[in-house]
Amino acid sequence: MATLGIPQNTIAVLQKYQFHFQKKYGQNFLIDPKVLERIVRAAQISKEDCVLEIGPGIGTMTQYLAESAREVVAVEIDRTLIPILEDTLSDYENVTIVNEDILKFDVERLVQVRNAGHPVKVVANLPYYITTPIVMGLLEKHAPISDITIMVQKEVARRMQAGPGTKDYGALSLAVGFYAKAEIVANVPPNCFLPRPNVGSAVIRLVRYQTPPVEVADEEYMFALIRASFNQRRKTLVNGLGNAAGLGLSKARIAQVIGEMGLAPTVRGESFTLEQFARLANRLKP
Ligand code: SAM
Repeated sequence: MATLGIPQNTIAVLQKYQFHFQKKYGQNFLIDPKVLERIVRAAQISKEDCVLEIGPGIGTMTQYLAESAREVVAVEIDRTLIPILEDTLSDYENVTIVNEDILKFDVERLVQVRNAGHPVKVVANLPYYITTPIVMGLLEKHAPISDITIMVQKEVARRMQAGPGTKDYGALSLAVGFYAKAEIVANVPPNCFLPRPNVGSAVIRLVRYQTPPVEVADEEYMFALIRASFNQRRKTLVNGLGNAAGLGLSKARIAQVIGEMGLAPTVRGESFTLEQFARLANRLKP
């Protein structure tokens, strides 16, 4: 039975090992069984599933995952947590602990070796300092992942799910929207963690699309346009993209294509939909 998550049990483990939290690793451990149950329920895990957990900490969520999944692979960067995990997870034969940086971890290999090439699920209470590189790395590399259920900073969850014309809309919203269907599952206050983070948190679930919702000939080129548009958020697309040296586009050419799309030359990236960025990329690509 999962025993961590109950605050006294977590505190007892931390004291037993005289564990010191490391700020640089974004360590905020969950101490609320209801939130843990909510995450695992949202992830829709069955006994067939292989789950990749990022940053197990002292193994709190890992215990819950191990009870629902066929197998859990938990990747933790902090080597001082490894003996603790070996202790707290000793009753679970279906857990493998890996002491590695998730940004260097080979998901493709995990899928081949542990799941006969079938996509795995990702579940995590993420370290907030690297949320975007982790999520973008998993989505962009086309790693074989069916869905991602993660705790992130509330503001980041809003950015992931935002639509055009809102203040949260940006390159992250478009990237997530291209690869996955996003749904915020729960808002989680700071008192559910030890130590308390100084921001609110949210659980978001990303279910990967089999085929992206828009057709684009060159994905990388579209994302280069998107990044350039939001680097100069306040500028019109004609000026923002025309000023981006790496793209080598003349303002006249951009204005012409925007006109052909039936849009005003003053249009800004912040009002452009994913579908419009895809059309723009398909037309502008040399
Ligand atoms: N899952 C635990 C829980 O919910 O209580 C801990 C979550 S804590 C927010 C984030 C965890 O990620 C920490 O254990 C931290 O050491 C680990 N971590 C930080 N950076 C990492 C990285 N690059 N690769 C793997 N794990 C990392």
